[in-house]
Amino acid sequence: MPWNKVPAFFLFAAFCLLNIHPALSQAPKKLKTIIVDAGHGGSDVGATGQYENSLRSKEKDVTLAISMKLVAQLQKELPDVKTIPTRTTDIFDEVTVKARKANEAGGQLFICIHADSGPLKQGRRQIGTRMVTRYKVTYKGKGRKKKKISTPYEVEEPVYEYFKIPLTRSGTSVWIFAAHKTSEKLKAIMSGGEEFEIEQGGGADSTYNNFDFNTPEGRNVANIYMKRFQERSDRLATLVNEEVESTGRQALGVNQRQKGIWVLQATNMPAILIETGFINNPEDERYLNSEAGQQELAEAITKAVIRYKEQVENPGKLNNVQANGEKKEETLQQAPADKRNLKEIKTIEVKSSKVKVELYDDGEIDNDVVSLYFNNTLLAEKKSLSTRALSFNLDLLPGRTNELLLYADNLGDIPPNTALMVITDGISRYEVRLSADLKNNAMVRFELKNNN
Ligand SMILES: [Zn+2]
Repeated sequence: MPWNKVPAFFLFAAFCLLNIHPALSQAPKKLKTIIVDAGHGGSDVGATGQYENSLRSKEKDVTLAISMKLVAQLQKELPDVKTIPTRTTDIFDEVTVKARKANEAGGQLFICIHADSGPLKQGRRQIGTRMVTRYKVTYKGKGRKKKKISTPYEVEEPVYEYFKIPLTRSGTSVWIFAAHKTSEKLKAIMSGGEEFEIEQGGGADSTYNNFDFNTPEGRNVANIYMKRFQERSDRLATLVNEEVESTGRQALGVNQRQKGIWVLQATNMPAILIETGFINNPEDERYLNSEAGQQELAEAITKAVIRYKEQVENPGKLNNVQANGEKKEETLQQAPADKRNLKEIKTIEVKSSKVKVELYDDGEIDNDVVSLYFNNTLLAEKKSLSTRALSFNLDLLPGRTNELLLYADNLGDIPPNTALMVITDGISRYEVRLSADLKNNAMVRFELKNNN
C-alpha cells in the first residue's frame, strides 16, 4: 500500500504493536532453523510418471529422496544450523500439520520440495492391420418393391495403439507466495501452459496463534510481516534459480502466486517451493530418480541457502557471491554504473543550470539505502531514504547531457529500491519516480533548455 494511503491510525497502531512485540518486529539475525519439506507422502502420491516408457515413478518418492539428500547436505555444510525434515519416511501429513510443525519448531526458512507435472496428450500409432467385413448396399426394383441388397466384402483396416505422449517441457522452477506485487522483479516468468499442482489445506487461522491478526491493527502487522517474508522468499528463490542454472540445468525462474500454495502462506517464515523437474518429461524423470540428479539438486539448493544466510545475516554488506562460490566484495569505488545495467532513464528538460534535487523514499519507508553519482562523480554515499528530503544543489554543465545516477546499496525491506526525486530549477518543479535494484541503476538526464 502506498505510504500516503495507509490510515495514520493503523500505522501508529502497527508501530505500537511492533514495539510491544519485539519478538515479532525483529527479524532474527542468525539463521538457525531450516525446515525441509518433502512434498506429498503416504496415500498422497502426487504426480506420477505416466507417459509411455516412463519409470512410473511417484512424486512422493522423488521428493523424499531429494529432501533427504538436501537435509544431509545442509547439515554437512551448515553444521550450526538445525535442519529439520517434515518427514523421513513414506507418511502422509496434512499440509496444515506440516505448517504447524514448522512454525512450532521455530523454523526460519521453509523449503518445500516437489516435482512438476502437466496434462499429457494422447498419441496413436498403427501397429498392424486386420481384415474386416463390410457391406456394399444396393437396391433393386422401384417403389414398394424396392429391395435392399447387402453384399459382403473384406477390407484391410489399420489397428492403432494409443499411448501418452511425454511432456516436452522440462526444468526446475521456484515458487513463492506473494501477498502483494511490490517488486518489478517478481513479475515472474509465469511460463503458462502446464498446470501447477496445488497442495490443499484448510483455513489460515492457526498460523499466527500467538497473536490476534483478526483486528485491523493485527492485519497491518501481518502485512508488514508478509512483505518482509516475501522479500526474503524472493531472495532465496532467486538464489536457488541461479544455482540451478549454474548446474547447466534448465532454470525456469522465480514465479509467484497469490493463491494456491497454501503451505507457503501458512508458514510463519520465508518459504519457497521448488518444482524440481517434470516427472512426465523422460529426461527430467530419469534425472529426478538418479542419485546424481538428486545430489546435484541438493547441492545447488544448499549453495543458495548458504548465500541467503550470508546475505540476511550481513544486510549492510554488498556481498556479491557468485554462483561458482567465489566471493566478490563489491565496493562503490569500482564505478558501479559500469557494473550494473541502466534499467531506467528519465529525461527532464530544465530551464536553469542550477537545479535543486530532493530525494525521498517512494512508498513505504523500508530502509532503502542509495548512493548518487552526478556526471560519474560520487555525490552522496549510502544515504537512507525517508520522508525527510535529502537535498542537493547541482550545477549543470552547459552543452552536454548531465546525468544523475541512482545506485541501490540495498533493496530495503520491500524491493526494489524506490525513490521519489523532486527537482526544481527555480521556475518549475518536476517529480520523478525511480526504482533501482542490485542489478539495475536508474538515471535522470537533464537537458538544459535555454530560453534566453
Ligand atoms: Zn507436488
